[in-house]
Amino acid sequence: MKKIAVLTSGGDAPGMNAAIRAVVRKAIYHDMEIYGIKNGYQGLIDGNIEKLEIGSVGDIIQRGGTILHSARCEEFKTDAGQEKGIKQLKNHGVEGLIVIGGDGSFRGAQKLTEKGYPCIGVPGTIDNDIPGTDFTIGFDTALNTIINAIDKIRDTATSHERTFIIEVMGRDAGDLALYAGLADGAESILIPEQKDDFQDVLNRLKRGHDRGKKHSIIILAEGVGSAVTYGEKIREAMNIEPRVTVLGHIQRGGSPSATDRVLASRLGAKAVDLLLEGQADRMVGIQQNQLVDHDIGDILNKKHIINLDMYKLSKELSI
Ligand code: ADP
Repeated sequence: MKKIAVLTSGGDAPGMNAAIRAVVRKAIYHDMEIYGIKNGYQGLIDGNIEKLEIGSVGDIIQRGGTILHSARCEEFKTDAGQEKGIKQLKNHGVEGLIVIGGDGSFRGAQKLTEKGYPCIGVPGTIDNDIPGTDFTIGFDTALNTIINAIDKIRDTATSHERTFIIEVMGRDAGDLALYAGLADGAESILIPEQKDDFQDVLNRLKRGHDRGKKHSIIILAEGVGSAVTYGEKIREAMNIEPRVTVLGHIQRGGSPSATDRVLASRLGAKAVDLLLEGQADRMVGIQQNQLVDHDIGDILNKKHIINLDMYKLSKELSI
């Protein structure tokens, strides 16, 4: 394989740039030509493809977002869209593609491989919701952003003796809420994987209040529902005025953490190795600090499983 390409797709995540850099540099190290596709699958259909050099990825390892930009593209879900994409790749003489993104992006990669075009997936999403890897690129940075925000909120929560409900990202996966809750000693953590026990949340608030606790922090993953609605329920049940903070898109941005840069560098380079070995339809991942790869079809058929031992621990530590 002499010419390969890389794109970022779906929700952006800090560390995607470090992954792009690793792909580009590793390809050039192996005397391959490497092309960057702008705007995900939309750019692939449009032929928004350009050759990348060593210098193209200089000074990006520390930057959030993605220099290749990302997009969502409905047309790519159709056979006609996928054929257009393959035509563009063939026109440029590109023989293999690396897709950095989440599970939706991997579905696109799977379709290309089914049509005879080799693709490798690199998991990049802040949600950590991809099976077959302990961590996805961007999760650690987003987690640290949340922790920094909660630490600030905690200062004002203590001063005013308030209860705060903090909504974090995670539609289907509660990893950000769970890790943030453990890291910040939250009273209650509400995640989509566990049925919400409202009475337990109230009991914890009451117990804390009774022993003179100055503040309470509840972390809620967006998949559970709206923090504003939840705050209303607590207000009615306890006759207190909880404050609500929805962290929103700040969780997606920022300079990637050291952990994410290292992970992105390892996964990006591994993806190039797999293409060189003649592999296709594989997703790279990290499990127990070892690089692994899995069949994309298997990954898409599985569900990410949250660590319920950690959830239990969080309850034990916030008695
Ligand atoms: P993520 O990769 O973060 O999960 P999305 O689910 O939005 O993000 O998927 C990103 C893009 O991947 C979509 O806009 C579409 O172009 C492509 N994609 C998603 N599902 C499919 C599919 N079933 N077939 C082909 N392409 C798909």
